[in-house]
Amino acid sequence: MIGANILLVEDEEKLRKLVSTYLKKEGINVFEAADGEAALAVFSENQIHIVILDIMLPKYDGWTICKRIREVSNIPILILTARNDESDKLFGFDLGADDYMTKPFSLKELVARVKALLKRSRQQVSDEVIAIENLVIDKKSHKVQLNEQPLALSPKEYDLLLFFIHNKNQALSREVILDGVWGYDYYGDLRTVDTHVKRLRQKIQPMGEYIATVRGFGYRFEVTP
Ligand code: CA
Repeated sequence: MIGANILLVEDEEKLRKLVSTYLKKEGINVFEAADGEAALAVFSENQIHIVILDIMLPKYDGWTICKRIREVSNIPILILTARNDESDKLFGFDLGADDYMTKPFSLKELVARVKALLKRSRQQVSDEVIAIENLVIDKKSHKVQLNEQPLALSPKEYDLLLFFIHNKNQALSREVILDGVWGYDYYGDLRTVDTHVKRLRQKIQPMGEYIATVRGFGYRFEVTP
């Protein structure tokens, strides 16, 4: 649990502080938000691993936040609500919520569910969704989003982007890239790599500068940890 970042969205200060204190005791980092606007801001500025989300909130309600997060991320969302309505629950699952708790709830149970969600998602997140700043790659659907907008990449551009990400911060020769992306039996020339890198850089602007040229050698995808 150490190192997990939770976004806790709850406008009732007393309850928020109570939950926050309890989660922190479990070694979880808690980012608090008291309204919908703050929640989305915190979410976009931090690497959040799980969201605990109240529904009735000032500014944007929990449903809106759930929807907005789901457009860019697969992280677990646990809905907290005072309502105990089956249709609400179904609506929440429709919007992509992973779990649901009705107030009043036991803190012990909340922590148990958070732990279960984190455990389940850790594997999934590393396998299926890669996020580098505002670039989000869903490996399952091959969908790429930049700044919450879908990004149309050709299959080779997609493969190239993934190859760079899997080999980030390493100088990669054009030969290595050609072999890695196009395969050993591909007889194209090395300029194929250059033209694809050029196009990929343009498409992922302003992140194009992440693909650094290594003079006389190849390229390096630079990501600061
Ligand atoms: Ca509320």
